[in-house]
Amino acid sequence: MTRRRGLCYSAWAVERFDAVVIGSGFGGAIPALRLAEAQRKVLVLEKGRRPAPRELRFSWDPRYLQTLQRFYLTDDYLAFFQSAMTMGGGSVVYAGAMLRAPSEAFDFQDRDGQRLWPKGVDRAAMDPYYAKVEEAMQVRQARWDEVPKAGGVFAMLLSNLGLSCDRGRFPFVGCLQCGFCEAGCQFGRNQTLLRNYIPAAEQLGAQFRAGADARSIEPYDGGYRVLYRDAMGAAREAWGKVAVVAAGAIESAALLLRSAQALGGVSLHLGKHLSNNGDVAWYWMLPEGKFPPFELWRGRNNAVMITYAFWREHRLTIHTGCGPPALIGALDIRREAGAGSLAFGLEHKRLMSALYRGRMVGGIAIGLVHGDGEVQIDSRGNPKVLFPMTPELSAYTGRVMGVARSIAEANGAEVLAVVREGAPLGGAHQLSTCRMGDDPARSVVDAGGEVNGRPGLFVSDAGALPGGTGVNPALTVAANAERIAEQIIARHP
Ligand SMILES: Cc1cc2nc3c(=O)[nH]c(=O)nc-3n(C[C@H](O)[C@H](O)[C@H](O)COP(=O)(O)OP(=O)(O)OC[C@H]3O[C@@H](n4cnc5c(N)ncnc54)[C@H](O)[C@@H]3O)c2cc1C
Ligand code: SF4
Repeated sequence: MTRRRGLCYSAWAVERFDAVVIGSGFGGAIPALRLAEAQRKVLVLEKGRRPAPRELRFSWDPRYLQTLQRFYLTDDYLAFFQSAMTMGGGSVVYAGAMLRAPSEAFDFQDRDGQRLWPKGVDRAAMDPYYAKVEEAMQVRQARWDEVPKAGGVFAMLLSNLGLSCDRGRFPFVGCLQCGFCEAGCQFGRNQTLLRNYIPAAEQLGAQFRAGADARSIEPYDGGYRVLYRDAMGAAREAWGKVAVVAAGAIESAALLLRSAQALGGVSLHLGKHLSNNGDVAWYWMLPEGKFPPFELWRGRNNAVMITYAFWREHRLTIHTGCGPPALIGALDIRREAGAGSLAFGLEHKRLMSALYRGRMVGGIAIGLVHGDGEVQIDSRGNPKVLFPMTPELSAYTGRVMGVARSIAEANGAEVLAVVREGAPLGGAHQLSTCRMGDDPARSVVDAGGEVNGRPGLFVSDAGALPGGTGVNPALTVAANAERIAEQIIARHP
């Protein structure tokens, strides 16, 4: 009998598999399928439940959203992160932008001038894996008639400055533009992992267990024993010759930190280098009557258009942000022209009702920055997120807002900031807490995703990406998971 944090795990009840995968998002579902195809007996433990389409709702009520997502607030209340907590992971609640990272993202260096991505992992090496995911998930460029009006207004803002933008790529088939992607697509138009990788793996015998919360991992009998709580709260354990950690950048780090003692020590880099992929968001307040009528919430949650016009000079891309009324109502939206915080009260209400329908359009920048955040665990083993506003992040945010202002000025618009001055944003694109690398002294996992000094233990999710992607990261997480799956199979026949 093993005792862990008040739970009893009985050794006789250990179920045995070739591979135990923790998490069913991009980093987990993809290796699960590839391992099942290689005739491995696979168990996937997923903390979230498996929502039936009829359970999904047109709702931005945080109580509903928390049935599919998890929110993390930093201790100083300045930054917040959100991630998926459902079978299928981020693919079920994301906005669906699936973009290949530009080549330069793979050449990004740490502060000592060392390339962050392992040798040989560059855009050319990733392209076949990108193509594999795009085919499996039916990712394609949005058609012109699929661009929401907010995306069209974004294009006009850029065009008035002589800049171009283009339509992004999505795994949506027959999208109805209802505007609730991040609440879960009720119409089955988003080709989530629940419609491709997961059922394909299940057909080959892989078991996906919903409501299974992995608490720790320990070396055992030539493989790894994963201690978890099942959907009824009972303590259970599963053994795998190989264990694949893919619980998302925050939860994977927390799980490995909880397991540090049992694993006989972990890298000093575990949990460190948390990056938000350089996300910075704002809104433009448009001048009255100069742009065609549109409503911010109509269409997809990502209004499709993206510009690479600032990539060469600033290493950042900007895509159109939308925003449901509930989110806009909760943001600390401020006019830069000295009107102060407008997050609450009558003044905020009046401004939003005047602007929301046709005079506000959002911008979200993504760029290359060093990750200086950290995931730690509290006394109960739960993740604690630190995300300080470092001088580098502050300078980067200043550059981004400068770009946002230059677009505003060329259009007679005004920038509305969405976070307090001096506060970092956080976001939904967290990366790099278990980063890959060639040098074990600077990384947690090697180029194949295997934990340094722990053969058979892999990390294959966003935590393994060593640097930002310059665009929304899901496709790169997924392609990297395809690449790591190959390594798992080759290294552990
Ligand atoms: C609202 C939202 C919108 C987004 N929009 C976009 C977008 O448009 N484009 C884009 O590129 N990216 C987007 N992202 C980010 C994208 O979803 C993530 O980068 C991606 O899902 C990361 O994949 P992953 O495998 O690392 O983690 P996830 O996909 O989050 O999967 C991790 C899974 O592990 C499970 N888990 C966690 N802890 C445990 C545990 N202890 N035991 C068992 N299971 C566990 C979680 O429930 C989750 O299902 C968005 C994210 C959110 C939240
Ligand atoms: S906008 Fe399209 S993909 Fe998003 S929830 Fe509606 S139908 Fe689904």
